[in-house]
Amino acid sequence: MSKEWSSPVYPFFEVEVIHRDGRRAHRFSCHGNHCSVKIQRFLDTKDSRSTGNLRKHIKSCWGIDVMDAADDAKDTNEVWTKIVNGILRNGTITKAFKRKGKESTYSNRPHTPAETR
Ligand SMILES: [Zn+2]
Repeated sequence: MSKEWSSPVYPFFEVEVIHRDGRRAHRFSCHGNHCSVKIQRFLDTKDSRSTGNLRKHIKSCWGIDVMDAADDAKDTNEVWTKIVNGILRNGTITKAFKRKGKESTYSNRPHTPAETR
């Protein structure tokens, strides 16, 4: 994986290269349960490497805690195996993944503002 793909947001999406109107784009399909969101990013725009929309979706779909945990993970492989797969399989982040001194459970559902610590 090149550096370009080292952001912790990518493991949350299935990435495809698509062609549209003669332009190349990446299409990101969310892995979330019951989520069919697809986000497109054209490769010839200046924000072609921007992860803003992807982060925004992860926060609303998976929860802010999950996005924080992904940011703390050591690499995208850990994000994928411990966080994304952990949640999809068990509803929680794999226990082996320890956040710096924090005990929390995570679930793949939107959090209301009152629940978000
Ligand atoms: Zn989603």
